[in-house]
Amino acid sequence: MSASVPISRRRFLRTLTLGACFYPAARTFASMGGEFGLHPLTPLLEAPPLLPAKPPVMLPPFHSATIGTPHLALTFDDGPHGALTPRLLDALAKRKVKATFYVIGRNVEMHPEIARRIVAEGHEIANHTWSHPSLSGLAAGRVAEELRRTHEIVLEVTGVRMTNLRPPYGAFNDRVRQVAFDGHGYDTIMWSVDPQDWKYRNSARVTRELVSGAAPGAVLLCHDIHKTTISAIPRVLEQLLARDFQFVTVARLMAMDKSGRQDSNLRPPGPKPGALPS
Ligand SMILES: [Zn+2]
Repeated sequence: MSASVPISRRRFLRTLTLGACFYPAARTFASMGGEFGLHPLTPLLEAPPLLPAKPPVMLPPFHSATIGTPHLALTFDDGPHGALTPRLLDALAKRKVKATFYVIGRNVEMHPEIARRIVAEGHEIANHTWSHPSLSGLAAGRVAEELRRTHEIVLEVTGVRMTNLRPPYGAFNDRVRQVAFDGHGYDTIMWSVDPQDWKYRNSARVTRELVSGAAPGAVLLCHDIHKTTISAIPRVLEQLLARDFQFVTVARLMAMDKSGRQDSNLRPPGPKPGALPS
């Protein structure tokens, strides 16, 4: 590559720079909603590869992080709820705790101001489908539609491009994960502590289960549509903060993970017949 031709030199430098971060760049693009058709790294194909490129592939579902510090993630599914989510946000703000909210699209449509407040107060907002079906029983097109509608309304209402999916009921298969990754670059997020707060509407029990399950790297599963859960949260926070736990969002916890989650062998994203337009 001749340095005497400025355009070639620029391309060389760009290739070198992008090549060095091929994988993160692709992941970032995907997380920004890079969908189908034009690939952001297409120019690289015009130059000989300078570095071995790691293809953008999705990682296995995330349940918890392997870390050496007392960080964990508190997550809330199924909201926003008109009365309970604001109460929860008050409790979190009072203790400067950040959480992750897996929102249902049709609830965001009903309560856009609460979705905006979730974001404005520094919490993570993530996708929990439009209508809360069991995704593993749906065809790929229906899965894509459930995710797309929620992705779009959250983007419209809050300006946030979500990066994670929690499948309702924890029900997923490889098809669901692939659609989520192809469409929006989503990671599939599960949990490591489940107090079954939807089943046991008992604040003392929910508190006990969350506090006893807390550990470095844990992902705690709650639902911000049950009064008993919202009533439990102040005590949960106080007990865990007293034990020096620090609450971070799921995206942050994943970034701290040292487990070296292995790439799956499913195909990388790309244009496919029947893919929804971006
Ligand atoms: Zn749910």
